Amino acid sequence: MGEVEGQVRSEQLDAEREARRRAALAQVRQYPDPVLRMRANEVEDLDESVSGLVERMTRLMQEARGVGLAAPQVGVLRRILVYQTEDEAPVVALVNPRVTESSDERESVDEGCLSLGAASVVVPVERPVSLTVEATSPDGEPVTVTAEGLEARVIQHELDHLDGVLIIDRTGPEERREALARLRPQPILGPLA
Ligand SMILES: [Zn+2]
Repeated sequence: MGEVEGQVRSEQLDAEREARRRAALAQVRQYPDPVLRMRANEVEDLDESVSGLVERMTRLMQEARGVGLAAPQVGVLRRILVYQTEDEAPVVALVNPRVTESSDERESVDEGCLSLGAASVVVPVERPVSLTVEATSPDGEPVTVTAEGLEARVIQHELDHLDGVLIIDRTGPEERREALARLRPQPILGPLA
């Protein structure tokens, strides 16, 4: 397994996997897409559209080599997130998640985001080190997740996406400036045929 930074794994991929990663990333909404700034709505009906969306998000997360994905990142304003912190770990899907407890202890760790140029932007983000989240599973069962470390961080990163919040909002002004400069479309150099 490669190094994990927030939402992104950095590792050497073979050509086919890299091609699949790029194809998946092309389906993930990229900053400054306005949908990334909108608050997602509570899910009222747990119908098959929810399980279908969870399946699609899981596939995109895995192919994009991310550790988490929130529905607004695929253009759907519903409060649904998925994550998988390690290759062998089970995929967790949470519908209408809400934080019921979080630690006073916080730490700052570098994070990336699939909607911020994947690996090209990594900024330090301070968050509580552990938390408890209550949610509903895609099958309609109540779920309580108590998490710490990477899992707690990924959940909070995805929860932010449900509220239109990005890592550049949670980092320092200098880091934000550098990140935004990196995300700005680069001029194309060379002859203009
Ligand atoms: Zn993200």
